[in-house]
Amino acid sequence: MYYIADENRYTEMPYNKCGKWGLKLPAISLGLWHNFGGVDVFENGRAMCRRAFDLGITHFDLANNYGPPPGSAEENFGKIMKLDLAPYRDELVISTKAGYLMWAGPYGEWGSRKYVLSSLDQSLKRMGLDYVDIFYSHRPDPNTPLQETMMALDQAVRQGKALYAGISNYPAPMAAEASKILKQLGTPCLIHQPKYSMFERWVEDGLLDTLEQEGIGCIPFSPLAQGLLTDRYLNGIPEGSRAAKSWGFLKPEMVGPAIEKVKKLNEIAKKRNQTLAQMALVWLLRDPRITSVLIGASSVEQLNNNVAALKNLKFSNDELTKIESILSGEKVEPTKLPANTVSSEPPKSQSRADFISRVVNVVNIENISNNSIDSSESRNDYFKNVAKRFKGMK
Ligand code: NDP
Repeated sequence: MYYIADENRYTEMPYNKCGKWGLKLPAISLGLWHNFGGVDVFENGRAMCRRAFDLGITHFDLANNYGPPPGSAEENFGKIMKLDLAPYRDELVISTKAGYLMWAGPYGEWGSRKYVLSSLDQSLKRMGLDYVDIFYSHRPDPNTPLQETMMALDQAVRQGKALYAGISNYPAPMAAEASKILKQLGTPCLIHQPKYSMFERWVEDGLLDTLEQEGIGCIPFSPLAQGLLTDRYLNGIPEGSRAAKSWGFLKPEMVGPAIEKVKKLNEIAKKRNQTLAQMALVWLLRDPRITSVLIGASSVEQLNNNVAALKNLKFSNDELTKIESILSGEKVEPTKLPANTVSSEPPKSQSRADFISRVVNVVNIENISNNSIDSSESRNDYFKNVAKRFKGMK
């Protein structure tokens, strides 16, 4: 059936800037790693993309190898573009990546210029696109000089085949180095895509600080730990779930060891009137360095549920302390919460949206009325913050 996007699609979703850059991403983005491949039901993937866009999700994330079979998610997305989303191309941020095994021989994976640039050409062809918005180096290559990989990203942007460059799975020191090289080349790094969830927190050990210093955005992947941080596995492994499938990386034996914590977290979520999935997503979004969370979904219902998470972004310090205690397996004192877990008021994505609109007011309106300043922030603090922010933008 002919698709017309919901005219109210931009009313609810917050959009956050990627680090210091001008591009904004929705607080929740949709990834096509699973459930959009050749083995999946095409109409289900198509319905999810349409619903996502209706909900204000403007960002769709792909990679050359998503499927299975590799390449088929890009092919299916290309069909969805053609059938439904093509009229909205300028409202979409579409990303793809190169790094993992895609074809046979020495040029089919990692980070050589030869592989990275030919992979992008193949991706564009599969999706039927002239350009992607973000092109990522999918993983660092220990055997290729970082400069070569970054030069390939720079070249992709200069050729007009990508608008921005990104990196994924790069540890903090390599991310800093990649950022330095890209800056020198004149194509700054827009965004980093690391694995980050309540269960996987390596980014807190330096990467987030590096990204903040470099003004790079952060879009965590697998924020629900591939479905573990949901109610999906509370009563075993259901048929059709990711852990029940023969392909993919969530193995049945990974479910059991997590379930005790999952049950305890689920109780906290219930007290917040949220599902566990919702709580796990907004737990990530409370850190202002997180641009967007990159979810996966296998149904429209899951998408609806996840986006509804944005209705409650606040955490009390008591909730955060309890969550921290469950995750660490020991009692955590409120004063010992990691710096980035401390509750912020008002919730970050809203405050940032407000902040941006207030900055626009400053630029556009010479006489600022007191009404344009949030009552929770004194006029002096407000101007100090604006000055700081502009300094950071240069
Ligand atoms: P998630 O951690 O969000 O897991 C998604 C899975 O969780 C779904 O497939 C579904 O499982 C389950 N789920 C989602 N919402 C709900 C809900 N409300 N209730 C119950 N269960 C739910 O993310 P992914 O692991 O899928 O990764 C997301 C994206 O990140 C990918 O599509 C890809 O774009 C990107 N990615 C990037 C990588 C990189 O190296 N850069 C690596 C991996 C992913 P089920 O299918 O069982 O229903």
